[in-house]
Amino acid sequence: MEYIRIWTEVDIKDIQDHIIMVDDKLGFCPQCKKIGIEIREIRKCPSCGREFRYVTSVESKNGKPDIVNRIRKKLPDLAFVDYDDYERITGKKKAESLFKV
Ligand SMILES: [Zn+2]
Repeated sequence: MEYIRIWTEVDIKDIQDHIIMVDDKLGFCPQCKKIGIEIREIRKCPSCGREFRYVTSVESKNGKPDIVNRIRKKLPDLAFVDYDDYERITGKKKAESLFKV
């Protein structure tokens, strides 16, 4: 199986509300800050119940297909979000909100 990145318009808020951050083995829930979540076929945070529909990993930075492949095998139902894109957009939003009065 091969992977390519396809650009599409998304609702960034929906992604932010349903994402899990993972490394090779374990996950982190950005909502309740729980770390060490066992990620095999997980769909929900065991701590706060957040529904996971998206996954990203700092280890996939700069497009590492082998990392994406490994995580996809563990979480086949979640859409893999490009880490660099996610950071760029959420960082931009954060900066915008700082300047809102
Ligand atoms: Zn949680």
